[in-house]
This record gives sequence, C-alpha cells and structure tokens, in this order.
Amino acid sequence: MPGTNLTRDEAATRAALLDVSSYAVDLDLTTSDSTFASTTTLEFTCREPGSATFADLVDATVHEITLNGRSLDPATAYADSRIALDDLQATNTLVVRADCTYSNTGEGLHRFVDPADDRVYLYSQFEVPDARRVFTTFEQPDLKSVFTFTVTAPESWKVVSNAPTPEPVAQGDGKAVWSFPATERMSTYITAIVAGEYHEVLDTYEGKFGTIPLGHYCRQSLVEYLDTDVLVELTRQSFEFFEEKFDFPYPFHKYDQLYVPEYNMGAMENAGCVTLRDEYLPRSRQSRSFFEFRASVITHEMAHMWFGDLVTMKWWDDLWLNESFAEWACYWCEAEATEYTDAWTGFANARKQTGYRADQLPSTHPIAADNVDLHAVEVNFDMITYAKGASVLKQLVAWVGLDAFVAGIRQYFKDHAFGNTEFSDLLAALEKSSGRELTSWAQEWLQTAGVNTLAPAFELDADGRYSSFSVTQTAHPDQPTLRRHRLGIGLYDDVDGALVRREYLEVDVEGGTTDVPALVGKAQPALLLLNDEDHAYAKIRLDERSLATVIDGLSRVEDSLARALVWGAAWDMTRDAEMATTDWVRLVLANIGSETDAWGVTKIPSSTALAVNRYSAPENRAGLQAEWEQGLRGLLLDAEAGSDHQLTFARAYASAARSDAAYGDLQGLLEGSFTAEDLAIDQDLRWELITALARGGRIGDAEIDAELGRDNTISGKEKAAAARVAQPTAEAKAAGWSAILDPATANETSREMVFSIFRSDQDEVVAPYVEEFLDAAPTVIDTLGFHKASVVLEYGFPLAVGSPSVVARLDEWLAASPDAPTGAVRYVGEARADIARALAAQERDAR
Ligand SMILES: [Zn+2]
Repeated sequence: MPGTNLTRDEAATRAALLDVSSYAVDLDLTTSDSTFASTTTLEFTCREPGSATFADLVDATVHEITLNGRSLDPATAYADSRIALDDLQATNTLVVRADCTYSNTGEGLHRFVDPADDRVYLYSQFEVPDARRVFTTFEQPDLKSVFTFTVTAPESWKVVSNAPTPEPVAQGDGKAVWSFPATERMSTYITAIVAGEYHEVLDTYEGKFGTIPLGHYCRQSLVEYLDTDVLVELTRQSFEFFEEKFDFPYPFHKYDQLYVPEYNMGAMENAGCVTLRDEYLPRSRQSRSFFEFRASVITHEMAHMWFGDLVTMKWWDDLWLNESFAEWACYWCEAEATEYTDAWTGFANARKQTGYRADQLPSTHPIAADNVDLHAVEVNFDMITYAKGASVLKQLVAWVGLDAFVAGIRQYFKDHAFGNTEFSDLLAALEKSSGRELTSWAQEWLQTAGVNTLAPAFELDADGRYSSFSVTQTAHPDQPTLRRHRLGIGLYDDVDGALVRREYLEVDVEGGTTDVPALVGKAQPALLLLNDEDHAYAKIRLDERSLATVIDGLSRVEDSLARALVWGAAWDMTRDAEMATTDWVRLVLANIGSETDAWGVTKIPSSTALAVNRYSAPENRAGLQAEWEQGLRGLLLDAEAGSDHQLTFARAYASAARSDAAYGDLQGLLEGSFTAEDLAIDQDLRWELITALARGGRIGDAEIDAELGRDNTISGKEKAAAARVAQPTAEAKAAGWSAILDPATANETSREMVFSIFRSDQDEVVAPYVEEFLDAAPTVIDTLGFHKASVVLEYGFPLAVGSPSVVARLDEWLAASPDAPTGAVRYVGEARADIARALAAQERDAR
C-alpha cells in the first residue's frame, strides 16, 4: 500500500500549500462491533488556488466526499488510502462520511471486550500515522489544527478526549452524545478518543500557574488495583517540577491518564489524554523496579506535554529528539522530584544497556536518522531513538552545563509555543544560552552510529604510583568515529573492608589517546573507574587489578551508580568475549544478594540467565546451569523475608530450574509444601511457576486449563497461552506458531506467546522454526500489521538453537533475499549477529 507510505517530500509540498483551520470529527461508536461511523469536516486554506492535493484515510468504506459543496465520487477519488482533492480554492471545506474499522492490533481505534465481565473498552493510538484510521486527516505533524470531536456512544460509557469532557446529552435510545469543545492547536498524532465503561477518579493539582483538573481511568475489573493516591502524588510532583524548570504553564486544560488494555507500548503522550498500558496497575506483588519504571513512564509522558505537544517536530526526522528529550527529562524529574532519587542508577543498570546493545547490532543507525518516508520512521524507531538518544542528551547536559541547558530550553518553549521546529532550533537556543559551539558536537554524536570503548592505559613506578596515565578511545571498524566525551574518573581504595572513593576528576576526552597528567604520581587504587558518575555514553574497560577487586568485592562499593558502571563494564566484557561467562556468573552469585539498586537486582539475573544458557561453552553448560540454579536457590532462601530480592530470586529460580529437585521445589511453592518466609505465592507468581513446570514438561494442558479456571481474566488468558507454548512438544510449538501468525490473535496475547515459545534445551522441537521464521518473515508486516509483526520479527527467531550452521543459513537467506522488506532483513541480520556474539562468548568460556 504505497499510498500509506507518505514521504517527507510529499509532506513538505502539502505543508507549503495548505494551512488547516479546523477539524470537526463526528464519531458514532454505536453502529457495530467491527466498524464505526466517522464524518470529518476539514476547513483549510490553500496558497495556490486551482492546485490539487490529497487527504489521508485508511481501511475505510467511504460513503460521501464533498469538497466546497461539490460531490466527489468515492469510487474514483478514494484510492490507495488517499482522497484526491483537485481544484482547490483559497478557502476550502472538505466533508468525508465513512465507516472505519476497529482494530485488535493496538493501532487506530482498538476495541477490547473484557473476558472478566464482557464490558467493552476502546482507545485510540495514533503515533506515528494512524489518526487516518479513525478520521480523515492531513497526516503529518506540521499541519497543526484545532479539533472538535463529537462522539455518540452508549450512555453508560465514559468518553474522554484531548479537550475537557462535556456533559453527555442523552438521546433517549440508550445512547448519548458528547460534544467536546475545540482543542488547542495540535498535531493529528496526539489527538485521542478513549471510550467505554471505564472507572473514573477525579482530582486536581494546584500549581504556580493555577489549577489543573486530573483524571485517572481504568477498566472496571482493575478498580481494586488503581492505586490513585500514589499516582496522583507522582503526577503532582511531576507537574510542580516541570512547571518550575520549564517556566511555562502546562499548555492544555486538564490532564487525564487512562490505563488501557492490550497496549503496544508503555504509554502515549496524547495532549491532556495520556494512555498507558494497564499492566502498570499490578494485581500481584511487584518489585520496586516495576514501580520505578512506571514512575518514569508517567514523568516521560508529562515532559512530552511541553516537548512534543506544545512544540512539535516538523517531520519525523526529529522523532529521536522528541523521545530522547522526554526520556532524559523523565529521569531528571524522577531523581529530583520523586522518591526515586537514584533513578540515574536505574537508568545505567537498565535503560542505557538497551542503547549500548542496539548500537552494536548491524541495524544501528545515527540517532538523527534520515526519515525519507513513514516506512523509514518505523524502521528507525528503536532503542537508538530512546535509550542512546537520552544517554547522549545526558552527555550534552554535562557538556554545556545544566543551568545553560535549562535556560536554553525555557527560551525554546517561549519562542516556539504551539508551533513546529527542527533540531537546529533547539541547538541555536542552547548555543546562545551556553556560549558553546555545538554544531560539530551534534555532527559527531547525532549523525554517526556506534559506541566507543574507553580504556585506561598506564605505567607504574616502583612505589605503585602512576608514572603515566591516559585514556584510550577505540571504535568498531564498521563505525570508526572517535568522539569528544566529558568523562569522570574515580579512584577507589580499600578502607576498613569498604571500597571508598579517594579522588574524582573530570576530563575532556578527545581522539585516540588523552593524557591525564593529573593522575601522574597518584597511587594506583584498588578500583579505577572510568565514567564514574556516568556522564559519558561509552563502553568502559576495567584494568586487571580493578577486575580482580570487583569479582570478589563489588558489593563493598557503597555508591550504587559506581556499582552500576562496574556491572555494566563486566557485562560488556562478557558479551565481547573478553571475560569468561563462568566468571560473570560467579561475580553475580557473589554480589547480587547485597545489590541495593532496584533495577540492578531485577535486571542482572535475567542477563545472567541469557549468559548461562547461550554464552557458556557447550561443555561447561550443564555444570553452569546447575551452579546457577543452586546458587539462586541459596539466594532465595537467604533473602530477607518479603523482600524484592526474595521475589526476584524466586522468579529467576523458576526460570533456571532444570533438575528434578528444583522442579519439585516449584511444585512445592505452588502447593505450599516448600516455602520462603513471607513469599506470597500470588496469581502472577503462580503463572511463572506453572510456565516453568510446563517448559520442563512436568505439567501439561490440563493443569494450565485448571489454572485458567482460577484466573479468568485477560492476563490469565495471556499467561495461559504463554505457558502452553512453552511446553517441550512439537504440538505445542506448532499450535503456538500458528496462533502467532494468525491476524485474529490479539496483539498482547501474541506478544506473550512470542516471548515464551522458543526455549533453551528444547532443540529438537525448536530447530524447525529457523526455516518457519524465514518463510514467514517477508510477509508478516502485511498480514499482521506493523506493531504485531515487529514483535514477531524482533523476538520470534529461535535464537536458542543458534549454531555455526544457523549463521551460515542466515547468511544464505540474506544473500538470496535482496528484495525482502526492510524489517525482515533487519531482524534476520540482528539474529545472525546475536548468534555470532554468543558463539564467540562460548569460545572464550571454553578457555
Ligand atoms: Zn515518548
């Protein structure tokens, strides 16, 4: 469907021609379970009367098109997801009456029926180009307009949009009409409609610029899990922080946060109408990192109200900036305004790692991607956009200084309110506020791909003092750029059993070698930590002495951020086959029990499970799996009663179980015959235990069905689907794969199955899916839609059976498939790189 793939040039041409005065969108959500009625009245001006353009509308049945009173025949004017508009006048009125389609993919207007009570819930999701699945649009961010929504729905429903919710007017037939006031000027992609039998809790925030009404919404079956007090507190803290720092009043009239089902992402910054995945309202015990992440999502979306919604990118070339800024700002806010004061440690332990990983894949790209059309936007919207982008902004803040950065941002909001910008506008504001030239900085950081590695190089004199010291910088040969880094260096000594920082300095690193004369004459510390304080975006290496210090003593470093950098460095060395997997596992088992950072505790065991199963030498694997399994059992039993550590180790033990004794423990946890003190075996933990037993072939469909009988909810159905496909049988894999490829399977159910189906130690039944995957890859985007297909392509390759012959097969496929869709080629390339990395690590572990 090339008509859906709007190009940057087409958008620029249309923006040069038109100004959009208003949209009036009339939706009737009572017409059927599969479609809804959508009538759009668009008022716009044209700079060249007599010329032609087009409007966008996808997957619709168009009944009537009227342009300036002239009727256009839908059979000819509506083709290829576009409505052709000719003979434009200086001012124009376009009316399009159509039926549009509900989705089950989380794109457009998603329709969900709750299995718990059969209630209906709808929500829209429009970024990047999906407002055109719900009404007729000029679908590009720089054609901002005001929007007036009128919605007909069952009178028992709530209906929420960007503008304050009006009193519905009953129609006498069980239906009512909500006539919303006009919105502020905004882009189509941040408009929203949420409707259904949602539960509503209203509140307010009293701020320095006045009162903001707050709303929180969720499904009726989740009401008991809506922890409004906590959510309102976080929302107020974030408003207070951003209104102060940005020195600009919140630009919209109210702020609703709606927790919605089967959501593809974390959340979406619809102006004044933020949607979030309702898994963020947990029904079972979750660890602190879960709540820390949820807080970062709440603050991230709020930051977008200014950066993204008030001031919006002109075209998707600057999507990276939109996301990177919100990402950086959310951790800034969390650390300074909420209880999560060590949020930057969590960033280093979790989010930043995803950026490093993405940047070492063959699919890496410059942060500022060249998004010539919407397909390019989809392909380039990844962890480079979010995690690397935020890391590099963090480095930019260190480079110009926080005060200058904030001053620049404040001016930028004032200068461009309700308008559209490009990155150069922000850079100009920051150059002015900081007095630093930033164009060349932006060039080396934003327009090139890849991550540098920084390592210490030194000589010691007879007294153990540095007689020379420098930082060396290297780059992968495929991405050879060396960059400028503002870098902290910490020296830690052994003092009474603790590793204490004796000295800290910051240097500007540039080129292949940067001498650090300030360290000459200083005694070599027990631990020398490059990138202490984590300003830089770079992989770091530990020297031999430092590595020996941390393997048995990492937990003796008091500062959680310094520990996060060490964890990260050791993990990089393991991934890069510079440290044996066996040593990594021992580092983790010796130190994870006393790690205090919430993200460190939850993330590191999952990285370790990957290492045990895929990075260990084949001849060491069974032994290492047993060491890991038994180590986790010990950690579980030693953990403080009721602690996050205990919960995390229980989950990790379930997924590490390979022995009869361990499976017996899992059964015992379910039945109560084996316990850890104060460990609640709640519904979500029960599913983790059941999935582990199913994976091991210890239970089958009957036990999974029985559990579903206890938990007849959408979560229960999704978890049951994941447990079924985990079973080590050819039938389970075949049924699972066919459900994953079935367009009728809802997005979140499909996602749960993708993550569960291809397990380690199931080679015989998993191996056939190398070919099945390659067969499906070229067509899934067309059959499943972009989001569902992306999950299948990114996470659905059976990496567990990676071997040299699989690498060869993928090379052969890539060579033979020059015309395969970009997404398919990308993820096959990533799978190949991932397996090659695992094979190298296995070789290192064998030594
Ligand atoms: Zn965002």
